[in-house]
Amino acid sequence: MKRYSAFAVAREAMRYHAGWERAWTSPAPKSHYDVIVVGAGGHGLATAYYLGKRFGIRNVAVIEKGWLGGGNTGRNTTIIRSNYLQDPSAAIYEKSRSLYEDLSQDLNYNVMFSPRGVLMLAQTEHEVRGWKRTAHANALQGIPTEYIGPQRVKELCPIMNIDGPRYPVLGALWQPRGGTARHDAVAWGYARACSAMGMDILQQSEVTAIRQKAGQVTGVETTKGAITCGKLAIVVAGHSGVLADMAGFRLPIESVALQAMVSEPIKPVIDVVVMANTVHGYLSQSDKGELVIGGGADGFNNYTQRGSFHHIEETVRALCETFPIITRLKMLRQWGGIVDMTGDRSPILSKTPLGNCFINCGWGTGGFKAIPGSGWAMAELVARGEPGPLAAPFGLDRFREGRFIDESVAAGVAH
Ligand SMILES: Cc1cc2nc3c(=O)[nH]c(=O)nc-3n(C[C@H](O)[C@H](O)[C@H](O)COP(=O)(O)OP(=O)(O)OC[C@H]3O[C@@H](n4cnc5c(N)ncnc54)[C@H](O)[C@@H]3O)c2cc1C
Repeated sequence: MKRYSAFAVAREAMRYHAGWERAWTSPAPKSHYDVIVVGAGGHGLATAYYLGKRFGIRNVAVIEKGWLGGGNTGRNTTIIRSNYLQDPSAAIYEKSRSLYEDLSQDLNYNVMFSPRGVLMLAQTEHEVRGWKRTAHANALQGIPTEYIGPQRVKELCPIMNIDGPRYPVLGALWQPRGGTARHDAVAWGYARACSAMGMDILQQSEVTAIRQKAGQVTGVETTKGAITCGKLAIVVAGHSGVLADMAGFRLPIESVALQAMVSEPIKPVIDVVVMANTVHGYLSQSDKGELVIGGGADGFNNYTQRGSFHHIEETVRALCETFPIITRLKMLRQWGGIVDMTGDRSPILSKTPLGNCFINCGWGTGGFKAIPGSGWAMAELVARGEPGPLAAPFGLDRFREGRFIDESVAAGVAH
């Protein structure tokens, strides 16, 4: 695979861009792979990438029922941060955030990581206490965050009304190296790097059954035929329960639709990411100028990849007081994704009842930020058969043992 570089751009400009290669190949499936990863979202592709890069395992297929990145990876509001409360969460999210810092160089693909800073507003006394506590926890975890007062919030985000009658801004948790990245580019960058290592990304191929013998997975059936494998990694977010059912075990997961929307594009008005958990809304501005606004999750389990109208109204109404500018804007489009929620709002990176089958799910409403770290930890789990230090606390056994990693405040819905 030719490297992308300034020289390559100049060379192609001279010859009408006729020399670019396809970013990844679309091969026919082989009959056997050492590892099959089900799901070509960010987490599945990152798992494959680090399997190749860190462990030299390259006879890998990533099987995707739609198009790669077409699940939640291509539908999220792209917020990246690591200011979680519990130590295991802080460790994996900070690993991920730090990998994002030079992911473009690592993948030779511009993922547009923009560490513009994330503000998590405190709009009640309860939130003031909560974010101060998180700032102290982050200090112990070695993650640079700071609790700041309302005037500093106003300096960082001048379009904000900090004196709202119902929800005044009392302060915020500020993570200066949090930010955003381009979601499609993250999926495309990993896909290109996997393809360059000789891995097969099989799009438009749905896994319909998991074959097993004597407690081991032997392969999968897909809409393009049966394929055998040495190990299986299930990384399908909102469809995790469906795949687990095929494999014959149950997961403590609920799938619900979560939605987001963008406004019409406007000139730059906000150069940080703001999350307002009390009123439940969060926003940033995209490079195109749209305000990217995250909304709520449905209150009932479902597999619909679309939003409900009442969420649009609730989210916009909630943000109007804090961001009066929104009242003058038209909303351009909205969409939804199927998120996979665990009871403690923390992910699952785990062995399963089948010996050579591993699962990565439960990132719920906040897994975009975790893609590089999750892939890093999942590759280790798949390659060695045992979790490394990042994945170990997130095993399925924690639900049986009552060893929850409660992140419902940090990750309940806002990202
Ligand atoms: C509206 C919205 C906003 C969000 N905002 C943020 C945010 O700001 N920050 C953040 O960190 N996170 C956010 N998230 C969460 C984040 O998007 C997800 O946690 C993350 O993208 C999950 O990635 P994934 O690779 O696990 O799943 P996905 O990207 O959903 O990939 C799973 C893939 O598996 C495939 N699949 C399913 N079943 C099968 C099958 N039988 N055979 C083959 N393939 C199959 C699917 O087609 C899909 O492509 C948001 C989510 C949504 C919906």
